[in-house]
Amino acid sequence: MKKTTHIILILILFIATMLPSEASGLTRILGIRHWTAPDHTRVVIDASEKAAFETTEQDYKIHIDIEKALFPKSIPHKYMLTDSAVRTIFLIPLTKKRVRVEITLSENTNARIFTLGKILDKPYRIVIDVVIPEIEKKQSEKRKRVKVFKKKKVVVIDPGHGGEDPGAVGPKKTLEKDVVLKIARELRDKLRKTGYDAFLTREGDYYVSFKRRMAVAREYGADLFLSIHTDSYKSRLARGSSVYTLSLKGASSEAARLLAESENLSDIIGGTANGQNNSESAPITLNMLQTETMNQSKALGAATLRHLKSVIRPRISTVQEAHFRILKLPDIASILVEVAYISNPKEESLLRRTHYQRKIAGAIASSIGDFLPAPRPVAAVKQENVPSPLTVSTPPPLVLKDPIVKSDTKTAKTAKSALPKAVEPEKKKTDAARAPAKKVQAAATSPKKTAQAKQSDPAKRIILYRVKRGDYLESIAKKNHTTVRSIMRLNKLKSKNMIRVGQKLKVHSPQLIHIVKRGDNLEMIAKRYQTSVTALMKINKIRSRNRIYINQKLKLPQSR
Ligand code: ZN
Repeated sequence: MKKTTHIILILILFIATMLPSEASGLTRILGIRHWTAPDHTRVVIDASEKAAFETTEQDYKIHIDIEKALFPKSIPHKYMLTDSAVRTIFLIPLTKKRVRVEITLSENTNARIFTLGKILDKPYRIVIDVVIPEIEKKQSEKRKRVKVFKKKKVVVIDPGHGGEDPGAVGPKKTLEKDVVLKIARELRDKLRKTGYDAFLTREGDYYVSFKRRMAVAREYGADLFLSIHTDSYKSRLARGSSVYTLSLKGASSEAARLLAESENLSDIIGGTANGQNNSESAPITLNMLQTETMNQSKALGAATLRHLKSVIRPRISTVQEAHFRILKLPDIASILVEVAYISNPKEESLLRRTHYQRKIAGAIASSIGDFLPAPRPVAAVKQENVPSPLTVSTPPPLVLKDPIVKSDTKTAKTAKSALPKAVEPEKKKTDAARAPAKKVQAAATSPKKTAQAKQSDPAKRIILYRVKRGDYLESIAKKNHTTVRSIMRLNKLKSKNMIRVGQKLKVHSPQLIHIVKRGDNLEMIAKRYQTSVTALMKINKIRSRNRIYINQKLKLPQSR
């Protein structure tokens, strides 16, 4: 007796746990979610099983009839969207085992329906992407116009994840997709204020496929591409930032490989229709261009690590490599920044703070400033006024090691602005006697010759040299191919010992720098500066003539 009741009880309990779905073989609808992007809206139906469904579409209505499904009681049945693609979503019971999801669309929309499988904590999903082709096209055209009428350096910032794909989740439920969007916005604003054109691959909380993100970068004609993420690890102790570039060969470490693997899941979690997902097709051939891009990406990565250090401790102090799908842009320097560990409680709470987000953005902006300086407005005007074949194409970055070209002219106007007070009294005093002689000389030369000299006399170039530890006037003069006397005169130095570390000295220097631009090759550069490829290679220690990269600073041999 007792035994039987036991068995019955267990049986009842067993059946009870299986109800309602498993026992009856019915699909439960777990939720309806939606995200609005500027050019499309995504609706997701979460289901407990891989549900069979039928779709019909007419009069701006899509019907998704799910077979063998229970009408859900615990979720809303009506959704009113204030959206330009989708108006309403209704859940309607058709029969006892058939549920209809009715989506009312706006005019001029296209819908694409596909399913996504179970992954991580995501259930089976029926996805309805409602696209507004007109807006999609307009946005793409707008991006292409940026490229065509490009005036500034273009940086495209890619906030990772979004929408359906939250990315990593912190202990306080902070979502990676939210934090990185905020940092990306700060970075964009900062860059715009400092002379760049900066754009985001996603403006809000919606998912954008890898393919699309990269297409956006290409359409904008991006010079740089930065994907912003936050890291996560099962141990809450893991902390710090890391920077990655693309590797086609293999990852620099097991951790890097695992990270790339998990970041590459985005398209599966975030969900793209199958066709879009398999678009990796054309493998990138490791050509010269790619090598150059990779070198640049590494340099950008190193600069980013350097600047981030002031805000957050680096997890690894070197740039790491792995096969990140988002970085497969063959001709755009691209890095992926894992800003901090969102899984670390301390870093999570920092990441939530606007002030900290701003600091991170500031550090990344500084590294971009180092790597790809925005042309200073003054310099740009000067270059336009004096179109000289010897003028550097872009003002060189403010790197301590290199002399900083400040002005390159002897026209009265520019000379005045470039050589302040220091020169004026000098003229009056010491050069008082020589000045008239100069004038006579100038008058004697033919106008044509003066014009030529104006353009190409490298000896008249004035650069700023920052005094380094161990420097003395003789060594500075030698380095810059000038004389101690000239430096003393230019800087009104009364004694040779009057220089100190960090001081900026004006130096007449014939040494020029050419910054390599897209499409440049050594032959062209040599011709332009009336020198030889061999001389260029020698002075810059270049081994192969193809080994130059965009933004590389090439020293030019003296033309004397
Ligand atoms: Zn991520």
